[in-house]
Amino acid sequence: MKLGDYFSATRLQTGARGLSFELFPPKKAELLPGLLKTVEELQRFKPDFFTCTYGAGGATRSGTLSLLETLKKNYNLKIASHLTCVGSTMDQLRSYLSDAKSIGVDYIVALRGDPPKGQTEFQQTEGGLRYANELVAMLRREYPDFGILVAGYPEVHQEAPSAEVDLDNLKRKVDTGADVVVTQLFYNNEDFYRFRDLCEKAGIKIPIVPGVLPVISLASIQRIASLCKAALPKDFVDELAKSDQEDWQFKVGTEFATRQVADLIQSGIPGIHFYVLNSSRATSKVLDAVHW
Ligand SMILES: Cc1cc2nc3c(=O)[nH]c(=O)nc-3n(C[C@H](O)[C@H](O)[C@H](O)COP(=O)(O)OP(=O)(O)OC[C@H]3O[C@@H](n4cnc5c(N)ncnc54)[C@H](O)[C@@H]3O)c2cc1C
Repeated sequence: MKLGDYFSATRLQTGARGLSFELFPPKKAELLPGLLKTVEELQRFKPDFFTCTYGAGGATRSGTLSLLETLKKNYNLKIASHLTCVGSTMDQLRSYLSDAKSIGVDYIVALRGDPPKGQTEFQQTEGGLRYANELVAMLRREYPDFGILVAGYPEVHQEAPSAEVDLDNLKRKVDTGADVVVTQLFYNNEDFYRFRDLCEKAGIKIPIVPGVLPVISLASIQRIASLCKAALPKDFVDELAKSDQEDWQFKVGTEFATRQVADLIQSGIPGIHFYVLNSSRATSKVLDAVHW
C-alpha cells in the first residue's frame, strides 16, 4: 500500500483508519530492550508504520537509523525516518538518505528542524537547505521511492508571521510532493478542525493526520508544550494539578486523551499519529478505551 492510502477516504469507508507511532532513539543501549517491548506491545493495534525522530532535543542522528534498522530486521515493520535540514549539507543529507534506503526505510518525515540548543534562530548550513519544502523537492527529485510526510501546525508554527503565511508554506510542501501531513500535538480539537478547514479551502487534498500526545505528567507536558507552543486548556491543567501523584496525573491525562481521540474519530479523521514517547502504557490505554 502507498503511504497516502493508509489514510485514504476509501479505507475510511471500510471503517479502517491509518495509525502510526512515533518513537525516539534510546539515549543508552541499555534502554533498547525496554523500547522493543514497547514496540511489541503496540503491535497489537496493527499500526501501519512506526516513525523515529531525528536529532530532536539534541539526540544523536545515528541512533535514528540504528533503531529503524532493528525494527525492520526484528519485526519487518513499515518504518519512517524523520529527517531535518539542521547542520547538514546536501551531500550529508544524500548520504543519510542512501543509508536509509539501504536499511529499508519506507518513508521520510521531511522537516526543517528547530534551531540547535543555544541558538534562537534556524541557521541554514552552507551548502544545505533552508526550508522543509526544499527537502521535499530534493526527495521527490532524487529519492522518488520514499513516501513523504510533512509537519502541519493547527496552532500556527511559532516563527510564522501569520496563519496565512504558515498555510502558504504548508501548501508549498504539499505541492512539491508530500503525501501526508502530520500535525504538531494540540489539546484543543477546535484548533485542529479550523486548521483542517483552512487546508481544504487552500486546496490541500492530501490526508491531514492529527498528532496526539497523551499527557502522563503535568511537569513534562508543560515543558513540551512550552517548547512547541501548544496551548494547554486551563481546566485540564487545573485538574492535573489537583494532585502530584503519578497515578492521578496518568488517569486525568489519559481520560482527556480518550475524549480527545473519540471526538477526532467522530469528526472523520483519516487516522492518528501518536507521540508515544517510547512507552506503550498511555497510548494503549487510550486506544483500548476508544475500541480502536
Ligand atoms: C510530526 C512532527 C515531527 C517532528 N519531528 C522532529 C524531529 O524528528 N526532529 C526535530 O528536530 N524536530 C522535529 N519536529 C519539529 C520541527 O522540526 C519544528 O517544528 C521546526 O521548527 C519546523 O519544521 P518544519 O518542517 O515544519 O519547517 P518548515 O516547513 O520549513 O517551516 C518553518 C518555518 O518557516 C516558515 N517558512 C517555510 N517556508 C518558508 C518560505 N519559503 N518563506 C518564508 N517562510 C517560510 C514556516 O511558516 C515556519 O514558520 C517535528 C514536528 C512535527 C509536527
